[in-house]
Amino acid sequence: MNILVLNCGSSSLKFQIIETDLELIEKGADRELCRGLIERIGSEALITFKVEGKSPFKSTAPLRDHKVALHYIIKWLTSDETSIPGIKSLEDIHAIGHRTVHGGERFKKSVRIDNDVITGMEDNIELAPLHNPANLKGIYAAREVFGPSVPQVGIFDTSFHSTMPEEAYLYGIPYQYYRRYKIRKYGFHGTSHRYIAYRYRLLTGKSREETNIITLHLGNGASACAIKHGKSIDTTMGFTPLEGLMMGTRCGDIDPTIIDFLMHKEGASVEEVFNILNKRSGILGISGLTNDMRDLEVEIMEHKDRRAQLAIDMFCYKIKKYIGSYMAAMNGADAICFSAGIGENAPEVREKCCADLEFFGIKIDKKLNDKMIRGKEGIISTADSKIPVYVIPTNEELVLARDTCRVVLNAPVV
Ligand code: ADP
Repeated sequence: MNILVLNCGSSSLKFQIIETDLELIEKGADRELCRGLIERIGSEALITFKVEGKSPFKSTAPLRDHKVALHYIIKWLTSDETSIPGIKSLEDIHAIGHRTVHGGERFKKSVRIDNDVITGMEDNIELAPLHNPANLKGIYAAREVFGPSVPQVGIFDTSFHSTMPEEAYLYGIPYQYYRRYKIRKYGFHGTSHRYIAYRYRLLTGKSREETNIITLHLGNGASACAIKHGKSIDTTMGFTPLEGLMMGTRCGDIDPTIIDFLMHKEGASVEEVFNILNKRSGILGISGLTNDMRDLEVEIMEHKDRRAQLAIDMFCYKIKKYIGSYMAAMNGADAICFSAGIGENAPEVREKCCADLEFFGIKIDKKLNDKMIRGKEGIISTADSKIPVYVIPTNEELVLARDTCRVVLNAPVV
């Protein structure tokens, strides 16, 4: 099957086409045929498409909305110049998988999208007012463009965390607010944490039951997850992605009183303060320079910038604190796994997160750590480290494609 995987933002659309089926999944032989990104939908859009083994196609075009963007993709996909084996027309796309941010309490697994599911997703808009409407735009557009005969599947960032126990997902506020409004921790990046746990099982030959690990998805958005017996039992993001680790532009954990205090001191509205906490805090807010880890490292190397260094120190300290916290929550872990842009590419960040953790028996091998970049997968701890530390590059699109395939074929979604 050729699965079109879509990740729609409010003005962007990221896609991949992945060839997969149950046999290919079993053999791990499913493969990416092409990928692409369209940004600034609604004005002169920026387009980058890439077919394996060919140089990228870059262009701009006035794309009004997601539907027009999808038409543009299909025209490119099926053109003679693009020539992707097995893709000649619209009929060669057999199913569509949508990355969907918030599944609320209803969607604990990936599901085939029908009218009832769409209503359920619309009900969740108030939980994710920025993300869910954008995901829904992609679903409406794909329905119009592909018609009702092409199955569509929703894969939710929150699903993997639906196994958290009450004591982990409830906040210490009056219980009626959970009952009335479903205020609780949901967690995000679930597809990525799930993929990392799956790769860990493959690398170690362990069963799901034997999988007790801490996964660290460290990109522009960042979260940690405590995985016990293969299931998420706690994660750092919460009711929204704002909670937990310090991130590129998000503050992570803070005392909520700061919001009220800032409103008074700055004469700011609640929206303005949340804008600060979501978009101007974290690594950007502390360094005053950038939210990008690469640029920070350059600043430190070239200018010895103190606040750039402070931003990295804080980023790592908060990760380390959660490693300790999840060690306690799980009565120890069998491995720590780093992933995503920073986790896969920044050895000095990994080293700092794991420094002075001899108490847990964690020791990083500097040589191995320095080598494990740009998509490499493997162990970065010393042979005598009591707890091995891994780098496992994430692949959310593969999970989206596989879930789509399984749901369409009525195979169990694991
Ligand atoms: P997201 O998907 O959340 O936007 P990514 O997983 O793509 O984020 O990660 C983006 C982050 O990874 C950025 O902070 C970027 O600077 C960092 N990153 C990417 N490559 C490197 C590198 N070689 N060294 C350090 N940081 C890197």
